[in-house]
Amino acid sequence: MTQTQKTADSSTAKGTLYVVSAPSGAGKTSLLKAVLEQMPELKLSISHTTRQQRPGEVNGVDYHFVGVEEFQQMLEKENFLEHAEVFGNFYGTSRVWLESQLEQGHDVILEIDWQGARQVRELMPECRSIFILPPSQDELLSRLTGRGQDSEEVIQSRMAAANQEIQHYDEYDYIVINDNFDLACQELAAIFTARRLRKDSQKIRQQALLKELLN
Ligand code: GDP
Ligand code: ADP
Ligand code: 5GP
Repeated sequence: MTQTQKTADSSTAKGTLYVVSAPSGAGKTSLLKAVLEQMPELKLSISHTTRQQRPGEVNGVDYHFVGVEEFQQMLEKENFLEHAEVFGNFYGTSRVWLESQLEQGHDVILEIDWQGARQVRELMPECRSIFILPPSQDELLSRLTGRGQDSEEVIQSRMAAANQEIQHYDEYDYIVINDNFDLACQELAAIFTARRLRKDSQKIRQQALLKELLN
């Protein structure tokens, strides 16, 4: 290892990887958007997907929208850390971007389904995972309908899949119920904050302060 690498390693805490899953419509995208506005140091990974772009979604911001052929080529080139087929579309997390962010000490959030969460846990057991639950089945249906972006048929298939997604809640480290939106935001922020305040991270981040106070 070179001298420069040593310096970088001892001055930068490796970022924490968070995996957030929830049944479609539980509110994970809205919650994460609100939390990221308060905590700009957190980075959200932008997945690649073959699903159709919804009205209002921006390519490269919400997702990298790609065709099936392009997705398959990326898969063959091992560009994805994890990938899964969800509701008949492919979704995948780009490996290079994620690894470089963590190396630079940034905390990164993956908003992915339970199949992807499993793959990430296998590869990076140090990641922390969070499952977001809706307050009831009725409320979930009303949020999916109220969002007004999916057809009736898509909504019915997402409701059916919600139950299957929820079966996996026990594989996660934290559970947040998204009933009151502001409270759920605070709870999510508390998870991210507590992790950042761990002694091992603070020892690195607050090196200069600790040096001054201890001398
Ligand atoms: P929404 O969750 O209703 O907003 O619908 P989306 O089409 O945005 O996402 C559908 C599902 O795909 C959700 O369960 C997401 O968590 C999941 N998903 C999104 N990106 C990825 C990814 O990169 N990998 C995996 N494994 N799942 C993903
Ligand atoms: P997901 O990303 O999990 O599919 P979204 O963030 O798109 O879910 O939320 C689904 C819909 O529910 C959106 O229209 C959003 O505004 C609404 N919503 C999210 N959280 C709440 C909440 N706590 N109370 C009421 N509506 C909510
Ligand atoms: P960078 O400067 O790190 O190469 O990327 C700039 C921004 O582009 C990132 O902050 C990210 O939002 C987005 N981006 C570009 N490519 C990817 C990718 O493959 N995956 C993800 N998750 N984000 C990407």
